[in-house]
Amino acid sequence: ELSYQEKETSAYIAQQLRKLGFEPQVGIGGYGVKAVLSSAQGVVHEAPNLGWREVPLRKMVEERTGLPVWLENDTNVAALGEYRFGAGQRTSPMVYLGLGTGIGAGIIIDGQLYRGIGGGAGEVGHIVIEPEGPPCGSGHPGCWEALASGTAIGRMAREAIEQGRGDTLLRLAGGDPGRVTGRIVAEALRQGDGTARAIIQQAGAYLGMGLASVINFMNPALIVIGGGVAARLLDPLLEAARPEIERRAFPALWKQVRIVPAGLKETSAALGAASLPHFGY
Ligand SMILES: [Zn+2]
Repeated sequence: ELSYQEKETSAYIAQQLRKLGFEPQVGIGGYGVKAVLSSAQGVVHEAPNLGWREVPLRKMVEERTGLPVWLENDTNVAALGEYRFGAGQRTSPMVYLGLGTGIGAGIIIDGQLYRGIGGGAGEVGHIVIEPEGPPCGSGHPGCWEALASGTAIGRMAREAIEQGRGDTLLRLAGGDPGRVTGRIVAEALRQGDGTARAIIQQAGAYLGMGLASVINFMNPALIVIGGGVAARLLDPLLEAARPEIERRAFPALWKQVRIVPAGLKETSAALGAASLPHFGY
């Protein structure tokens, strides 16, 4: 039995497609929605933010539209978009890293997405960096995304305010610590604020620790970094990350990898999803 919201989502997708004049084929990339799904089965196993479990989204949209539908998660379609049309330039092995409120990866090996046995591969945000560190969104202590994501940057900024070191941050947030996010820290950094610089230095060091693990584990030719935090802060974060990568990655592997910003910005996921019917998964 499907919930009202589940039925409404498929109806909304069908309605938007009708407005576009019924494209003959459809690729859906759970755009901006965190979901563990099986593209082979067309089923969303788990979408915590929506409260979904085992929703047969592909079948639902196919029934509503009469069109064949492809389903894939947001980080994977962003990886395909960058690989096919953006900074990836069809280089593999490639790791696309989505650096936003969390951290996730889309992995391309021999030109194909690597999904693991059930579609869940690429959850690199849950590599353990600090065993007793702050919890990630799933409650695990000390995950990479609890230390180097936009959420982590916001948390560090609010801690700085509590400790009386965040006057600029607080002013930029209109006096409300609850409104301090990665975006505010980026603005403070642009204005030369020392606290913002220290926060980015710390988050960047954590970014480097995780990147060293990705490099050692995957020996990728290319790491493409996209997402909202990367769009605003990638250069200073990578500057702080490099010493940690050099300390921890095998020099031969570090020499073989290039780290570049996403080329398509916020359209990488949409283009990757739109490419599914043409190129396949
Ligand atoms: Zn975690």
